[in-house]
Amino acid sequence: MELLKQRILRDGKILSKDILKVDNLINHQIDPQLMMAIGVEFARRFAYTRANKILTIEASGIAPALMTGYCMGIPVIFAKKSQPSTMQNVLSSPIHSFTRDKDYTIVVSTEYLRPGDKVLCIDDFLAYGSAAQAMDNIIKQAGATSVGLGVVIEKKFQGGGDKLREQGIHIESLACIEELADGKITFTD
Ligand code: 5GP
Repeated sequence: MELLKQRILRDGKILSKDILKVDNLINHQIDPQLMMAIGVEFARRFAYTRANKILTIEASGIAPALMTGYCMGIPVIFAKKSQPSTMQNVLSSPIHSFTRDKDYTIVVSTEYLRPGDKVLCIDDFLAYGSAAQAMDNIIKQAGATSVGLGVVIEKKFQGGGDKLREQGIHIESLACIEELADGKITFTD
């Protein structure tokens, strides 16, 4: 997605050869016009799936997931990173965050993911694939079907995308990064 790539080149900051900071458009300050364009693009690419729900993980996945859900006319569920006392029956999966170097468990209420649901997963970044794998686990526990994964930014060099594609998951990434080196962002195309 050309507009997104231009914004990443203009505003993204390379924190290390592994981590890209996009705090002024996605991860802290959010650009609503860009987010809507992202939602339109995901909706176009995944229209064929006939998904009836979107699943993401709080917090940074919510904005792109919400815009996609708006464009597709379907509800958006976000997995929580801790279980509220008010939530009783949960589906859960462990996850490792490499940006925070922390293990935690994500939870979704059984009320919102049902057998037979066709679920599209959306997230901000795809690195090693732990977040996407955790969403896939939760969908399987619900007896629902995963119809694809949309990521705003894929860092291809960390291998998560290839691993998930080998498992048969259809992934659409709107900006795919080949390398973050010497202060330069190189896209795959
Ligand atoms: P994975 O689980 O695929 O290893 O990593 C994906 C998750 O880690 C995303 O949900 C995102 O929040 C976070 N993440 C991974 N890489 C980056 C990065 O380069 N920058 C930022 N801001 N977040 C990242």
